[in-house]
Amino acid sequence: MRPQLLNPLFSSAAKLPGIGPKTAKHLDRLLGPATATGAGEARVVDVLFHLPTGVIDRRRQPPIVEAPIGEVVTLKVRVGDRRPPPPRSRAPYRVLVEDATGDVLLIFFLANHAWIEKMLPEGAERWVSGKLELWNGHRQMVHPDRVLDEAGFAAMPLTEPVYGLTEGLSPRLLTRAVDGALARVPPLPDWYDGLGIKLPKLPTFGEALALAHRPETPEAMEPTAPARVRLALDELYANQLGLALMRKRFRERSGRANAGEGQARADAIEAALPFHLTGAQQAALVEVRADLCGTKRMLRLLQGDVGSGKTLVALLAMADVVEAGHQAVLMAPTEILARQHFAGLAPRAAAAGMHMAILTGRDTPAERRRTLEGLATGAIDMAVGTHALIQEGVSFRDLGLAVVDEQHRFGVHQRLALSAKGEAVDILVMTATPIPRTLVLSYFGDMDVSNLREKPPGRQPIDTRAIPDERLGDVVARLVRAVAEGKRAYWVCPLVDESEEVDAAAATDRYEALRFVLGDRVGLIHGRMKGAEKDAAMARFVSGDAPVLVATTVIEVGVDVPEATIMVIEHAERFGLAQVHQLRGRVGRGAGASSCLLIYKAPMTQVAQSRIDILRQTEDGFLIAEEDLRLRGEGEVLGTRQSGTPGFRLAQLEHHGGLLALARDAAQRALEADPELMGPTGAAIRTLLHIFEREDAIRLIEAG
Ligand code: ADP
Ligand code: MG
Repeated sequence: MRPQLLNPLFSSAAKLPGIGPKTAKHLDRLLGPATATGAGEARVVDVLFHLPTGVIDRRRQPPIVEAPIGEVVTLKVRVGDRRPPPPRSRAPYRVLVEDATGDVLLIFFLANHAWIEKMLPEGAERWVSGKLELWNGHRQMVHPDRVLDEAGFAAMPLTEPVYGLTEGLSPRLLTRAVDGALARVPPLPDWYDGLGIKLPKLPTFGEALALAHRPETPEAMEPTAPARVRLALDELYANQLGLALMRKRFRERSGRANAGEGQARADAIEAALPFHLTGAQQAALVEVRADLCGTKRMLRLLQGDVGSGKTLVALLAMADVVEAGHQAVLMAPTEILARQHFAGLAPRAAAAGMHMAILTGRDTPAERRRTLEGLATGAIDMAVGTHALIQEGVSFRDLGLAVVDEQHRFGVHQRLALSAKGEAVDILVMTATPIPRTLVLSYFGDMDVSNLREKPPGRQPIDTRAIPDERLGDVVARLVRAVAEGKRAYWVCPLVDESEEVDAAAATDRYEALRFVLGDRVGLIHGRMKGAEKDAAMARFVSGDAPVLVATTVIEVGVDVPEATIMVIEHAERFGLAQVHQLRGRVGRGAGASSCLLIYKAPMTQVAQSRIDILRQTEDGFLIAEEDLRLRGEGEVLGTRQSGTPGFRLAQLEHHGGLLALARDAAQRALEADPELMGPTGAAIRTLLHIFEREDAIRLIEAG
């Protein structure tokens, strides 16, 4: 399938120069494509797409007296005194170097003395390069990056890329592997050829990769540098082509009516509810039902704030589909959510005579077998689950509706995979992070949209306050009082890093600290815990056994514990606006008055201040989303940052969002001119789609 031409890019990175069996493992961990069982084998293309995050600039070669403190400088010096530490001392080995204007101490901890003495003979001229620091009023350089003689200096590259690294991979090794990878980039055809689109003047894809990896100046690293723009545009173009093909195919394949006149089951569910549907829910349901009854395939986005009652709308739609003799699924982004949905929905479904099952990665083989069988025979009417639902081996007797919760955490691929599980599957995607209109268009294409702007009645406003972290003690004291009064609280720990591991550590520390004052009445939940441990922690919170739950953002989406009335968010300034809003939506769901305490590290930046102000002023998620976009850019709004499922590998939407329209136009023109991608530009476009592994899109054309 993949053009021969691209084979060098998709061969194993383990064969790159300098990579051995051990470093290959590290490389896999750092760059390997995500698979169901963890990181797969890193390929040459993964190395190429691992762009540097910075550049070390060794062009700065001032006299010592003018060298800026705190920056990397390259100094031409004469070696003066060498001061080895006394025997058995842990003090560093120090070497004084100087020029006509001043001197610097080179500091080597736990150093190999022989090496130092060989590299830095007294009286010799040397070039040293590294970060200059001031210590006790004296200039010093700890472990210079380079110590070179004249010949070595002549051969030293003046700028060096800096890569995000992982244990076991040195910059030098990665740089060498990248060189090898760059050498394998074949000449590629032009995938914009003859579209009649006016493109900015940019390097080719291959040139852009080389330039991006070997920036000659720090400016060449900027997102707006031509090489970066080219790579981002290509990736967005591939993405827009994929979206356009999908949409076309999706709409083309004639749908069928997945629901009919019968609404007895939905009516039964509705009648059993202890409340009435809101006007917004009714209106959305009317729209969804019209789609389900029509023969055009439904592709609808149901947007509504946390707690606005989307899930219920979904359940009623699912009931209609079951009544018409088909099956329906609801796919949630996390295990916790899937279980919670199941716990909430299955009894309601059962009361209306429908059999609902759950399918996640944690089922035992026996459970799994039973569920798969039920789905295949049709004994199961509805299923709730995680990604496990779209895996191979899961087949349905007749899937009619797929509901995807918290859409932006799933990619287009998953949506496609779901719709491929049936003949004419209608798709309803639900998101609690309302997406501004402009982004809906560019991101989801011509999806229909239903909005739930009204909240169920009886919800009380949440008292939102910002508190500087010096007053953490007061917050804890207040929490202890609240717990004594029988209240329940979430305590969310900061997103320190993109890494769950670091977040988990922060949450664990806070948990330990709170245990001093609350003892067993505090629980802990984070993404590194095993599924059963998470369930247990959640269960203790739900039952009130542990009325305080310290958590990382794993609780962000969807968790529903109406008794919880206090939300403490540490380092609130680090979260996205929409994300804080999501978290805040975990409280204020029941009858009790709720509060949200945003603890921030003082002093706040202006942006952080405005964000907290907005949160205090409104609970309207749509408004907050617009503001979030204005303040932070699209990547954040769409949650690609926070979700850990990187949307794009080369494009950064907050910088390259402006290219989306261009990419979309190019994609439209290309497909209008050559819908089957048969001509020369079509072939080039196929190559592009393969490079970005949009095989799903290519399959759509081939199946045509
Ligand atoms: P969402 O999925 O939009 O976050 P849910 O559907 O999970 O919201 O609803 C949140 C909570 O509100 C649930 O406990 C649900 O039973 C309840 N709820 C839903 N619709 C209504 C309504 N019309 N009136 C009162 N409560 C409702
Ligand atoms: Mg929800």
